Amino acid sequence: MTIQSFIPPQRTLMGPGPSDVSPRVLSALGRPTVGHLDPSFVGMMDEVKSLLQYAFKTNNTYTMAVSAPGSAGMEACFVNLLTPEDTVVVCRNGVFGARMIENVQRIGAKVIIVDCPWGRAVDPQALEDTLKQNPQAGFVAFVHAETSTGALSDAKTLCSIAKKYDCLTIVDAVTSLAGVELRVDDWGIDAIYSGSQKCLSCVPGLSPVSFSDKAAEVIKNRKLPVQSWFLDQSLVMEYWSGQGKRSYHHTAPVNSLYALHESLVMLQNEGLEQSWARHKAQHDKLSKGLRDLGLDYIVPEQERLPQLNSVYIPKGIDDVKVRQYLLNEYNLEIGAGLGQFAGEAWRIGLMGYAARSENVALCLAALKDALT
Ligand code: PLP
Repeated sequence: MTIQSFIPPQRTLMGPGPSDVSPRVLSALGRPTVGHLDPSFVGMMDEVKSLLQYAFKTNNTYTMAVSAPGSAGMEACFVNLLTPEDTVVVCRNGVFGARMIENVQRIGAKVIIVDCPWGRAVDPQALEDTLKQNPQAGFVAFVHAETSTGALSDAKTLCSIAKKYDCLTIVDAVTSLAGVELRVDDWGIDAIYSGSQKCLSCVPGLSPVSFSDKAAEVIKNRKLPVQSWFLDQSLVMEYWSGQGKRSYHHTAPVNSLYALHESLVMLQNEGLEQSWARHKAQHDKLSKGLRDLGLDYIVPEQERLPQLNSVYIPKGIDDVKVRQYLLNEYNLEIGAGLGQFAGEAWRIGLMGYAARSENVALCLAALKDALT
């Protein structure tokens, strides 16, 4: 049998990501591919850098996009900053904090875990107590927006505690970037990574990262080579510094970078603060509707992420059947529970282009139908 072209169904993506991609971004993907050292492309990459600085609220020179998904951004931060001699405090309140721990362990560095309940923000007091007892710690790592539970941690406070104890901070902003307030310079974040596929309304596969001057110094001065050649940021820093010569490191995913550029232009047109406000406004509408349907949130109101709404599956309701029904009848994807909440919760995303009134209305109507 001759295999035919793949034509995907037209879904509405309201899970934990990837989320709906803006049509503008999809059309940017189809623009003619140029060489990744073509002067026009290099000029566009300078714009990607300044747009990412805008999105992260940073002036960091080393603000760039890793050519791989968020997990690679995570790994890039850990493998570049750490050596086996280091001690790292990792806050764990869900699946992605646990992944940070694995990264540290694979490097052979010492990890000290601040365990916090799933479905809650990281407890700043628990971090402070741990740092007091472990003066040898040089790094603090935490997830700003824990996608596995829908909890938002207070990154500003956590970073200020880390600074008090002379630690560099590594922050996961895969789900938070453009969806909630995030200020890399004001909050003193040293290394941060995100993903293109969540609140940026872009296709999956790129990971924006940014390193403070202090973090960049650590990377430049390290004696032990980074064990991953591809993720060794010292090999691409010259490219992104804007001063050095642009030379070949790897073949850049040219068209995906057009898409990222377009999504960041859209963000700038909307305004970053307006994007945060839009996510919150749509979340308020959705949470009211979910409450009317009798669905309870996992996360207490003050610690809730607007862009990821985790609700308990009502007793007697078949998780898989409902999600299948939404997909078959409404072309609507919502997320299953993850980790401790597998089989117990649904995760409803309102990320980027999906954070619109029509999506909220569709989701509430479809859930009402499925549950009655
Ligand atoms: N960190 C968080 C908080 C995430 O939500 C995700 C993905 O959902 C990741 C890291 C990993 O990103 P990716 O799946 O793009 O590799």
